[in-house]
Amino acid sequence: MKCSDCREEILQKNPEKCPYCGSTNLISKKDETPTVLAEIKKLQKAGKYEEAALKYEEIEMWDKAKEIRKLNMGKISTINIECPHCGAVQPLSSKNNKVKCKNCGKTYVIPKKVLELL
Ligand SMILES: [Zn+2]
Ligand SMILES: [Zn+2]
Repeated sequence: MKCSDCREEILQKNPEKCPYCGSTNLISKKDETPTVLAEIKKLQKAGKYEEAALKYEEIEMWDKAKEIRKLNMGKISTINIECPHCGAVQPLSSKNNKVKCKNCGKTYVIPKKVLELL
């Protein structure tokens, strides 16, 4: 939340008026939400969970930020899979049983056992 008159940042949740100048011309960060959410989706797809979490915090969606951090710290990012073609290791970031190697570009199948860990 920001006051559009005095440009002060308002920390209060859903204030009716600016606590600094009393103005009711408040700029809600929620207005930016659709674009931010689109960005977050992109970040998530790219596996940039921390950046996505920070974006959620910007629009004050704390729960979502927490959720995404869990994803980041949880199982998904800790599983690394080795390409049978070139031996390059990359983190497994989806439940797809086929992944494309970032190094050699070949597709390979993830063993069920590994997928179950996700
Ligand atoms: Zn103000
Ligand atoms: Zn490879």
